[in-house]
Amino acid sequence: MYTLGIDVGSTTSKCVIMEDGQKILARSIVVGGIGTAGPEKALNQVLTQCNLSIDDMHTITATGYGRNRCEIAHHQVSELSCHALGAHWVFPEVRTIIDIGGQDAKVISLSASGKMQNFLMNDKCAAGTGRFLDVMSNILQIPVGELADYAARAESPASISSTCTVFAESEVISQLANGVALSDLVAGICESVASRVAALAKRLEIIPALCMSGGVARNAGVRLALERALGMPILVSEDAQLFGAIGAAIHAFRKANQ
Ligand code: ADP
Repeated sequence: MYTLGIDVGSTTSKCVIMEDGQKILARSIVVGGIGTAGPEKALNQVLTQCNLSIDDMHTITATGYGRNRCEIAHHQVSELSCHALGAHWVFPEVRTIIDIGGQDAKVISLSASGKMQNFLMNDKCAAGTGRFLDVMSNILQIPVGELADYAARAESPASISSTCTVFAESEVISQLANGVALSDLVAGICESVASRVAALAKRLEIIPALCMSGGVARNAGVRLALERALGMPILVSEDAQLFGAIGAAIHAFRKANQ
C-alpha cells in the first residue's frame, strides 16, 4: 500500500511516498511553500521519481502551515504530531526534537514510545528561525546551503548583539563595512540562531537522545553551535527536513489500517 505525506511549509514544500508505512520510496523538497506553485511541483516530482500516479496513493495526509489548503489530502495533521512521528521512525531512541523551520522553532518532548508529551514554540519572532538565516544569506549573498562552510572557516566568530532581525540586519551590514571577515560573520549569525533556540529548549527538560528536524538541521553551523550551547550531541539525518512529510505518510498508513 502506498501512502503520501505532504508538508506544505511556510517556505518549502516536502513530499514523501512510503510503502506499507515502512519504506520510503520517493522524497522531494521544493523551495516555495503555501500560496506558491511549490506544493504542486513537489507532488509531481515525488510521483515521477517512483513512476506512480496520484490514484496509486491509498491515503494522503497533509501537514505544515498550509495543510488546510491541500485539497487532495484525506487528513490534515499538525506539524508537531508529524515531526514526532517522523523523528521517532528515523531515530526510535529520540526523546527530544528541536525543529527549526522557515518561520518558527519548536522543541518537542517524546515519551519512550514516541508519543508527544510536551512542546514549546517560538512563532512570534524571526530571530531563532530559518527566516533569520534567509535574511542574512540574502544580505551576504551566500546561499543558505553554503552558510555552514563559511562558519566552519571562522577564526573569531562575530558577536551579533541585536535581538531583533531588523536591527541585526543593520548590525551585520555595518560589521561587513568595518571589514569583519565573512566567515566570522556567518559563524556569529549561526551562533545567534543557536543561542535563541537553546534558550527555548532549556525551558523544557531536554531528555537525550536529542535530534534536529526542519530545514535548518541541514545547516551544520547552527547544529554545532546548538551542541555547544546545550552541551550534548544532536542526532541529525539527511532526511531531517522531511521528518514532517515522513510523519504524515506514516499517519496516512495508520489511518488506512484503522
Ligand atoms: P518550512 O516548513 O517552514 O517551510 P523548513 O523546515 O522546510 O521550513 O525549513 C526551511 C529553512 O531551512 C529555510 O528557512 C532555510 O534557512 C533552511 N534551509 C533550507 N535548505 C537548506 C540547506 N540546503 N542548507 C541549510 N539550510 C537550509
